Amino acid sequence: MDKPVRVRFAPSPTGPLHIGGVRTALYNYLFARKHGGQFILRIEDTDQGRYVEGAEQYITDALHWCGIHPDESPDSGGEYGPYRQSERKEMYKTYARKLVESGHAYYAFDTPEELEDMRNSKQAQGVHSPTYNAETRSEMRNSLTLSSPDSMDLIARGMPYVVRLKVDPNEAITFTDAIREEVTFNSSELDDKVLLKADGMPTYHLANVVDDHLMKISHVIRGEEWLSSTAHHVLLYRAFGFEDMPTFAHLPLILKPTGKGKLSKRDGQKLGIPVFPLRWEDSDPANRFDGFKDVGFLPEAVLNFLAFLGWSPGTEQEIFSLEELVEAFDLKRVSKGGARFDYDKAKWYNQQYIKEQADPHLAATLQPWIDQSAHDIDPVILTDVCRLMKERVEVLPQIIEDGYYFFTDDIEYDEKTTKKKFKEGVEQCLFDINEAVQNLEDWSAEALQTEVKTIIEHHELGLGAILPLLRLSMAGTLKGPDLFDMIILKGKSVFNKRLLSFISYAKALTNA
Ligand code: GLU
Repeated sequence: MDKPVRVRFAPSPTGPLHIGGVRTALYNYLFARKHGGQFILRIEDTDQGRYVEGAEQYITDALHWCGIHPDESPDSGGEYGPYRQSERKEMYKTYARKLVESGHAYYAFDTPEELEDMRNSKQAQGVHSPTYNAETRSEMRNSLTLSSPDSMDLIARGMPYVVRLKVDPNEAITFTDAIREEVTFNSSELDDKVLLKADGMPTYHLANVVDDHLMKISHVIRGEEWLSSTAHHVLLYRAFGFEDMPTFAHLPLILKPTGKGKLSKRDGQKLGIPVFPLRWEDSDPANRFDGFKDVGFLPEAVLNFLAFLGWSPGTEQEIFSLEELVEAFDLKRVSKGGARFDYDKAKWYNQQYIKEQADPHLAATLQPWIDQSAHDIDPVILTDVCRLMKERVEVLPQIIEDGYYFFTDDIEYDEKTTKKKFKEGVEQCLFDINEAVQNLEDWSAEALQTEVKTIIEHHELGLGAILPLLRLSMAGTLKGPDLFDMIILKGKSVFNKRLLSFISYAKALTNA
């Protein structure tokens, strides 16, 4: 790579950062790290109408939770700041003016009504979706149709105006996209985009291109929805005479779990799955979303899952640490086609990461759920509970929810299985086991297992007749960790209490 790699993630703070945005940030980050470059966070907050309080903080928090740390950002600063576009406002005006002076842009004074009239009359003439362009601009009120003194006079009198890019028709605009190869647009299909709005704020197009140039961005890696804007951006680079046009890379869309259509924030609510990294709530109760973190995902798992949403390493390996992703990442292996958001796969990744966690660390991660739990969680056994449960959960709170029986004696028994298994002749065996357990000296799972099996054999019963009953007594269900590990963890007196409770429940149920 000839010029130093500098990439940016440039979200607009218009709401919570969608998981697709996190993927864009991740790919930028991986690319920067892989090539020894810089990863920049730039906040594109020039659209005041869409600005949402708290959204910038959300973006920062989300990246922090994921472990994607920018080298330059509004918070950490950097050589090319400020990194918040609203703080660069004045500069964009200068650039817009330069384009007017060089004839690549012009002032337009049309009122909303005049614009509406133009669209209506064009539609009446059969134009499908009329725009302000090379054809229509000649009939409008702008500095190309008015004389220079008239335009200046309007400006001097405080007439609201915008600055528009003058797009010449019939030109091929070609650029190379690192993912899509050569992309060509015909300039006749493009409108004369507004660059500077009547409130003096730049539009996305102007601010984005000026900043990419000033911040020496080498690669623009962003979502596919920006592909068509790139044609205007290329024109802007040409118009400014900037010779450092970045390499573009447009990432595939993230599709709904069905594979049909783009994943939206409402899909998350509809399907009960997270599509944001962290919780978001605002004054509108309809806008409350739980994030991956809140439903119990580990950030490493989310990153690994996201990395594979549109990229693949070309090998069988699926589990990648962040360092390994940096090593393996290549824009050439990013797909063009949309990537289906497969929540089951996300949970699978989480499961792989949860079971690799150290038990004390996992126990500490559970704090938010411990705080909310109806049970009194014993911190002394929590680490052991994590050890026993971590192999069998997909999201963190399941350790506490599925393993509730570690924290209460109030067990919810599986009625059907109890009826099926609590047969005549088992009761005495259970009592004998209880007695042996109470007298067991070597309190280890191995010794316990040997003892219990000996008694079952002595009663000439099968293991399948008794072990499920012991399991039901301890956990209420046949699912869960190893039976003997559970008994060892809870101790003799709990075993005694639970076994007796279970026997009376089972007897009442089966009228035995
Ligand atoms: N502000 C744009 C957004 O919200 C940035 C797109 C780009 O990366 O150019 O996604």
